[in-house]
Amino acid sequence: MAEKELGYVELEWTCPNCNTRNPGSAPKCKQCGAAMPADVKFEQAAEETLITDQAKIEAAKAGPDVYCAYCGTRNVSTAKVCKQCGAALAEGAAREAQGVVGALRDKPAPPQKCPNCGTENKATALKCVNCGAAMGKAVPAAAPAVASPPRPAGIGILALILVGVVIVVAVFILLGRRSSDTVAQVADYGWRRAIAVQQLTPVTREGWLEQLPAGVDVVGCRKEVLQTVSEPVPGAREICGTPYVVDTGTGFGRVQQDCEYEVLADYCQYRSMEWVVGPPIILEGSDLNPRWPATNLRSDQRPGGQTEEYYVVFRADDRDYTYTTRSLQEYLELAQGTRWRLTINGFGQITGISPG
Ligand SMILES: [Zn+2]
Ligand SMILES: [Zn+2]
Ligand SMILES: [Zn+2]
Repeated sequence: MAEKELGYVELEWTCPNCNTRNPGSAPKCKQCGAAMPADVKFEQAAEETLITDQAKIEAAKAGPDVYCAYCGTRNVSTAKVCKQCGAALAEGAAREAQGVVGALRDKPAPPQKCPNCGTENKATALKCVNCGAAMGKAVPAAAPAVASPPRPAGIGILALILVGVVIVVAVFILLGRRSSDTVAQVADYGWRRAIAVQQLTPVTREGWLEQLPAGVDVVGCRKEVLQTVSEPVPGAREICGTPYVVDTGTGFGRVQQDCEYEVLADYCQYRSMEWVVGPPIILEGSDLNPRWPATNLRSDQRPGGQTEEYYVVFRADDRDYTYTTRSLQEYLELAQGTRWRLTINGFGQITGISPG
């Protein structure tokens, strides 16, 4: 995140003695003449505009003001001796920088009423135009509404669902473990063999122009954010946050923005020819001589993987149990046998077969 300086604004301070608002650059109260104490903070004016006066800008950049160790008067950081008592300022304490004072108040503020006579004054007025009374503190900008985080709802319902799931899983485990043995005969059997076919197909994809595979057909490109970096880069798009004011300790605030930089690049749609899996070629039979289906592939087709699956149906006590396997040897062995002892679990699935 880069800090971008936009300029400087004059801050204000309120005299603790007479409650008068004073320009930040004034070391003494304009109303009662009291010096600004070190523990009084600088505040934002109701409306802030960037300073154009070069002398004030230089003062703002000079560094935090220094308080005289002897008389407590505020002096600019460049001064060698106190303008009030003439003491050397080398031992003086610099004003502590306060950090961010707030968002820049660059919008017109509503007028304010004089606390003494009720006359409407401009928001920026430090004294009433009618009676000369000190105006109150600068109007603070409306604080953004803080949304309270949503309350997690339905925790009770979630717990109930969880208990239900646990019960169902427990029942499944129990059913799966319960088993019984039964003697069965082979009632039916068959096989199914399939060869997947891949076909060269035009496919539309997207990618960064610089990283496109060779020989593809570019359809169109648009600018997209390739990466976001913290420092300015030629051609990058600058994205900045709300301007805010930082106390410099001089009575002036530095207006700055946090910015980052989006590096754009061409992101393109392109067409390429790719092998895409199409419908498989299947051959099925109910004999003991499984065969692979014939494939007459075109030049833009090629065989993908092949799969074989076999099933045997056992009958015991007028009930059928289907057993499937990918092993040809097991299929031939089971289909050619007559009597088998099956182990059946609680779901009616065969979990073991042995010669009966
Ligand atoms: Zn005062
Ligand atoms: Zn002094
Ligand atoms: Zn007034």
